[in-house]
Amino acid sequence: MLASRSETSPVFSFAAAAAPLPPELADAAGCALRDYGGSGQSVLELPFTGHEFASILESAEAHLRELLGVPADYRVLFLQGGASAHFALLPLNLLRPGDRAAYLETGHWSVRALAEARRVAGAAAITGCRIAKPGGGDWCVPRSIAYLHITSNETADGRQLHENQIPAVDPVPLIADMTGDLFSRPIDVARYGLIYASAQKSLAAAGLTIAIVHPDLLGRARAEVPAPFNYALQAAQRSKVNTPPVFAVYLALLMLKWMACQGGIATLAARSREKSARLYDEIESSGFYRCTVPASQRSTINVCYCLPTPTLEREFVVEARRRNLLHLAGHPAIGGIRASLYNTMPMAGVEALLAFMAEFAETWQNGG
Ligand SMILES: *Cc1c(COP(=O)(O)O)cnc(C)c1O
Repeated sequence: MLASRSETSPVFSFAAAAAPLPPELADAAGCALRDYGGSGQSVLELPFTGHEFASILESAEAHLRELLGVPADYRVLFLQGGASAHFALLPLNLLRPGDRAAYLETGHWSVRALAEARRVAGAAAITGCRIAKPGGGDWCVPRSIAYLHITSNETADGRQLHENQIPAVDPVPLIADMTGDLFSRPIDVARYGLIYASAQKSLAAAGLTIAIVHPDLLGRARAEVPAPFNYALQAAQRSKVNTPPVFAVYLALLMLKWMACQGGIATLAARSREKSARLYDEIESSGFYRCTVPASQRSTINVCYCLPTPTLEREFVVEARRRNLLHLAGHPAIGGIRASLYNTMPMAGVEALLAFMAEFAETWQNGG
């Protein structure tokens, strides 16, 4: 048996579904819940139509534009529904009658996005496409499509499209679900027609969905799209068609400032690479753990790997939990182990996991 859990060791969450919240942000958010900026009101009591919330929203947008280098003509929308709702809302907002779109199938989430698009737009309008050659860089993207949808980071599978693997389909607009890795690497926003992301993994709390959209794609929505989900209407009314998720927007502002203080995207990207490289190195050199994702597709955010047997994997997750290393089980559809390393996972968390992995491997290699 390995040593039992230390009551004093820090807790690290490796969950894929929501990123860790830095303690200083939890404190600041807690203060604002009681008394927003010395106003005597909770941030939750601010009317979304008032000047206090307007300045939170404007400041969040300005910080987001600055961090990602969003070109001036792109609109930044603060929406609801999560990426899953936008899987259906994208075709409803972007496809005109007779239009077709293509979806790159790279893993779990892209397949979900494709299925939802088919459900609302019809199978004839939505084409799925895969890598043309195994391991090759060619994508079989059909011509004359209204957009190509990609999933930059497959959170469930541990796969990521690296910069040189993102298909160049200009002038076809590229639409990207960046829920998994927004703010973890530099992006050239001008290459995209629309970028969207649920906030709970890369930015704030569940309930907020960010969309960054080129104005050419606005104004195509079908008449039946509900007003809060009509991208053009939300752009025209500065994301205030209906009550925005006020607290999640406030948390996003705190997180955007935090990311700027860390040194911005370049620093966060370097840390992401370092954290994931240390884990992949341990996996490769262990002779015990095994990564099933080809090296060229490995995610810097969700590191997925296996142990020799599913029984050992269960044991690993239980033992890790006793060390306060939480939520290491892989996605239910994929299995194995998954360690998610969002921006807010400190290096100390990675080091604690590495130490545990080395110890666990040694114990089982010596007969358990
Ligand atoms: C988590 C995730 C989603 C789903 O997000 P919801 O907020 O649950 O809708 C979609 N796409 C990717 C890439 C994800 O990682």
